[in-house]
Amino acid sequence: MKKKRGWRTRLFVKRVSKCVMRSVCFYMVFTVVNAVAAGALPVEEVAPGVFVHQGVHEEGLTSENIGAIANVGFIIGEKCVAVIDSGGSFAEGRLLREAIKKRTEAPICYVINTHGHPDHVYGNAAFTVDKPHFVGHRNLATSMTARHPYYFKYLERTLGLEHARESALVPPDVMVKSSQTIDLGKRKLTLRAWPTSHTDNDLTVFDQKSGTLWLGDLLFRERVPVVDGKLSGWLATMKGLGRIAAKRVVPGHGTVSSTWPAAMAPQGRYLRTLQVEVRAAVRAGHSIQQAVGEVGASERGQWQLFEAFHPRNVTVAFTEAEWEN
Ligand SMILES: [Zn+2]
Repeated sequence: MKKKRGWRTRLFVKRVSKCVMRSVCFYMVFTVVNAVAAGALPVEEVAPGVFVHQGVHEEGLTSENIGAIANVGFIIGEKCVAVIDSGGSFAEGRLLREAIKKRTEAPICYVINTHGHPDHVYGNAAFTVDKPHFVGHRNLATSMTARHPYYFKYLERTLGLEHARESALVPPDVMVKSSQTIDLGKRKLTLRAWPTSHTDNDLTVFDQKSGTLWLGDLLFRERVPVVDGKLSGWLATMKGLGRIAAKRVVPGHGTVSSTWPAAMAPQGRYLRTLQVEVRAAVRAGHSIQQAVGEVGASERGQWQLFEAFHPRNVTVAFTEAEWEN
C-alpha cells in the first residue's frame, strides 16, 4: 500500500521541486539556510563601518526567503549603531541584529526605516530589546498603521501565525518632517524626507563620513521599480537625489554602486518611458487594459520581475495620467 505523505513532506517536496528548476532560488535557499545556521545575516562592509546585506530578487515574502528581499544594513559610529531597514520579518531582523553583535559591542541607538513596505519594516520588532529610537518619514506611522491589517494577513499566509505575530508592528517614535541630523559618535547621518515618490513616506540616509547615500526604494537596480506613490513625484525627486554628492549609493533593491548619479540612469529611462507612453495611451483614449498590453514594451527583458510588477505600474501611472487631464 502506498504510504501517504504528511503535509509537511508534501509541502517540502513541492517547494524543493519548484526550487531546483530555478538555480537562483536554489542559491537563495542555500544562502538563507547558511545564514540561519550561522545565526547571522551575511553582510558586506561597503565602506569603513558601513554594512549591507543585499536582498534576493524575489517577488515577495516566502517561508524560504524569510522576507530577506530588500537591502538592509547598519552603520557603526563611535558611540552607537544605526540600523537602516530591518527586513521583512522578525526572523530576518534577528539575523541582522546578530550580524551587528558580531562586529561591535556598541549599542543600537536608531532603527531607521526608509519607508513602510513590509520587506523594510517587519524586522523592527527584533530590535525593541535594544530600546532604540525608531525613525521614519513624517507619514510613516500613518502608512504603517493603515496597511498593517493587510500586511499581517500576508505575513500569516506566508510565514504562519506564530511568525507573523512576532513580526509585530513597530511604528517610528521619531518622525522626520523635512531634514534632520543624528549623531552616532563622530559620525553624522543626514536624514531627508521626500515628497510622494516611490511611496508617500520615502526617507534617505546620508552618512557624511563615508559619503554613502542609502536610498531605500527611491532606487531600484536590476529588478523593475515599483510605483506605489506618484510617478511624476518620483521623477522630480530623482533630480534632487542626483544633486547629492555621494561616493556610493545603497539602493533598496540591487547592487551597491559607486557611480552616482549614473547608477540611476536605467530607472530614469524606465520611469520616463512609463510616463510618456501612458500619457499617450490616455490621450489616444485607450483603456487601462489596452495600456497594460502596449506600454513599456521596450523595457521588457531589461529588468528582473518585470512581469510581476510592470502591469501594476502601468495601472498606477494610468490613473495618475487620467487625473492630469
Ligand atoms: Zn518599497
